[in-house]
Amino acid sequence: KVRSRDPNQGEFLQAVDEVLSSLRPLFDRYPKYLSVLSAVCEPERVIQFRVPWQDDKGDMQINRGFRVQFNQAIGPYKGGLRFHPSVNLSIIKFLGFEQIFKNALTTLPMGGGKGGCDFDPKGKTDSEVLRFCQSFMTELYKHIGPDVDVPAGDIGVGGREIGFMFGQYKRITNRHQGVLTGKGWGWGGSLIRPEATGIILYIGYGLVYALDFAMKDAGECLAGKKVTISGSGNVAQFAAEKCLELGATVLTLSDSAGTIYEVKFYSPHGLIIRAVIKAHVHFIELIAEHSFCSIHRYFEGKRPWSVACDVALPSATQNEIEKKDAESLVKNNCKYVFEGANMPSNNDAIEIFKKNGVVYFPAKAANAGGVAVSGLEMAQNSGRVHWSREEVDAKLKGIMENIYNTSRDTAADLGHPGMMTGYVSLCDFQLGANAAGFKKV
Ligand code: GLU
Repeated sequence: KVRSRDPNQGEFLQAVDEVLSSLRPLFDRYPKYLSVLSAVCEPERVIQFRVPWQDDKGDMQINRGFRVQFNQAIGPYKGGLRFHPSVNLSIIKFLGFEQIFKNALTTLPMGGGKGGCDFDPKGKTDSEVLRFCQSFMTELYKHIGPDVDVPAGDIGVGGREIGFMFGQYKRITNRHQGVLTGKGWGWGGSLIRPEATGIILYIGYGLVYALDFAMKDAGECLAGKKVTISGSGNVAQFAAEKCLELGATVLTLSDSAGTIYEVKFYSPHGLIIRAVIKAHVHFIELIAEHSFCSIHRYFEGKRPWSVACDVALPSATQNEIEKKDAESLVKNNCKYVFEGANMPSNNDAIEIFKKNGVVYFPAKAANAGGVAVSGLEMAQNSGRVHWSREEVDAKLKGIMENIYNTSRDTAADLGHPGMMTGYVSLCDFQLGANAAGFKKV
């Protein structure tokens, strides 16, 4: 039914396929769950709108905005906004669909939603981004609210954009409410560092916390392990920082133009690669400017998946690991794949990982740290309280531990091992995470 309704929504169909095909053991055990399938796959509401804004030359530009309010079974719609030229309804629906189960896994009361726009913030001035964000919120404010729908950031939407949109929301509504998350510290938010450009930094931290729990379960530890990371945005940067803090070696980072290999990080405080930005020319120049980093090699047009490693953290974007990349990771002895980006591995790649005993920890569970901290921000805003950085970090760690344990135990309960130390590579975390999220919703 989903396929015939939306035959051209490739990313959305892929995300639905991934969840439904992995859930077979759950439906065998609880056939009554089958009756809610079609409801879960159909968004409760889809909003599409025009976003007119004026560029610095005075010309009118038009973009297309979306908000998909997918499911509010367990709380207000919650999910990020993505500003990227590739944004279309299929991409926003796939992200919204994933968000339902990811949010459920956090155990916080948040439904699933997602939004965005085909606006490209790259190369735009601050004032252009400001005018665009104001126009975007001028429509979006009608559809959101602290108990209705609470957006946050995603690709292309960081602290600056959230700040611009929050300002416009307050101006239009005369309400200072927790209507967006990922706000700056002084605005009731959880951005703990001025240079951190969004809630996304917690995805990077949470990702590595989950990895650390899995490794401990397998009787291993992250210290001394070789890690390849893709991406150079907030997820990648903060995942790299955490890996270094825990004693791992980070071998790669990447951008859309290529991969840097054998980056050497020298930093007494783990304060690395903050200067990394996406354009690769700047990427090299900026890193080279910092005495604590040096680059050995840059591979134009290459992804990091041919580099030998123990751990891979795909943290760039959807479908960045295809079948051949997964085969190459397996060949190079990669033992852990933890997904920082949303749906970075396609369904063929996931099959390869699972068949070859790679510990594959899917995005919905692995990158839930961002939205978990969003949930904590909502709680603080509603309660008119503000927790310290340490409190937020400790709660994040607890949530990631719970997500890891729940995914493992749910898989075990449905007949897949993984409970015992040393058997982690046999655990079907894809089944465990999807089934636990689905059951809750
Ligand atoms: N965009 C992030 C995600 O994919 C964060 C969403 C949020 O905090 O609402 O989970």
